[in-house]
Amino acid sequence: MVFPPLREELRGLAPYGAPQVSLERAPVQLNTNENPYGPSAACAADIAEAVRRAATTLNRYPDREHVELREALAAYLSRDTEPTRGFRVDPAQVWAANGSNEIMLQLLQAFGGPGRRALSFAPTYSMYPEYARDTVTDWVQGHREDDFTLDLDRARALVLEQQPSVVLLPSPNNPTGTALPPEAVGMLCEAAASYEPGGLVVIDEAYGEFRRAGTPSALELLPEHRNLVVTRTMSKAFALAGARLGYLAADPAICDAIRIVRLPYHLSAVTQAAALAALRHAPELLGKVDDLRAERDRTVESLRARGLTVADSDANFVLFGTFADRHATWEQLLERGVLVRETGPEGWLRVSIGTPEEMMAFEAALTEVLTQDPLTEEASTP
Ligand SMILES: *Cc1c(COP(=O)(O)O)cnc(C)c1O
Repeated sequence: MVFPPLREELRGLAPYGAPQVSLERAPVQLNTNENPYGPSAACAADIAEAVRRAATTLNRYPDREHVELREALAAYLSRDTEPTRGFRVDPAQVWAANGSNEIMLQLLQAFGGPGRRALSFAPTYSMYPEYARDTVTDWVQGHREDDFTLDLDRARALVLEQQPSVVLLPSPNNPTGTALPPEAVGMLCEAAASYEPGGLVVIDEAYGEFRRAGTPSALELLPEHRNLVVTRTMSKAFALAGARLGYLAADPAICDAIRIVRLPYHLSAVTQAAALAALRHAPELLGKVDDLRAERDRTVESLRARGLTVADSDANFVLFGTFADRHATWEQLLERGVLVRETGPEGWLRVSIGTPEEMMAFEAALTEVLTQDPLTEEASTP
């Protein structure tokens, strides 16, 4: 026998994961887009108290429909829709799971599957093809332009040609930081509604809270497009990656459909309690988002001032390059205690926005690397 008798298409594959390097070797960790600011002592105490109370009921299964949490998440999302578009997100339009990664998987379990297609535009989040593979959904990939935006005519043509059941698009995009204009979202929703049985357009707003002023959220378009799904997470802006809580907003019929494929009681009572307590501290947890946005804009300018190429970013990370041997640059930064991410198109590196001290350490290390060994293509051209 073949041991273990794994699905053929999974044999020999490595599990996904950014390299995890010890804090001793890399005191400055800027590789997974986490929020560098942890919860305050008061917030941590409130989460602990909520979990303590939940602990007294752990003999029972949790609320399968996580009603209270959906209400709190709907109220939170309504802050993005009520002032601009005058509508509130209804709790029946919200669904939560263990990270937005589980949300994507549930969406593909319900709407993808054998004989169906999922489509995205590269460069994009490296997990999407894995969810497609795991749900036996065919994977089709279009391409972004050289500046990482979408050419709307080409994108529409590809959707009409491939007729995907699910279109997955992060906005802001990971790893480039590029946000989609609302016209793009509307056009893709219309294209995906124009064939039978139609497709969902999933706008992954994992970094939505970091978008620059004037960039609207796709949430605003929910009343106009039944096939639009907007996903969010508490992992990034909310500084709660360790709690594993992601969610979506969409037509209630889409939430209902997901209930068919979700595992029973997928969201533990502990997770629900922790997320609810954290949501009560939203202003505090989100308080650092503006600082991080300012630090991002400063980083973009500073990297450009060195002659590097830097993608415009609406997220809490910056894609920069280009390096003749990016792996060598990545290693030289690591030797100086700074861990960034080797991702995106060949030649580019991605740095997450940390505290001002961490960004100073990153820039100091980068200065050493660039002056000692001018590896950038730009730097080597006179
Ligand atoms: C980080 C990230 C997520 C969030 O994943 P969680 O499972 O919620 O932690 C989702 N989408 C993209 C594009 C991301 O970069």
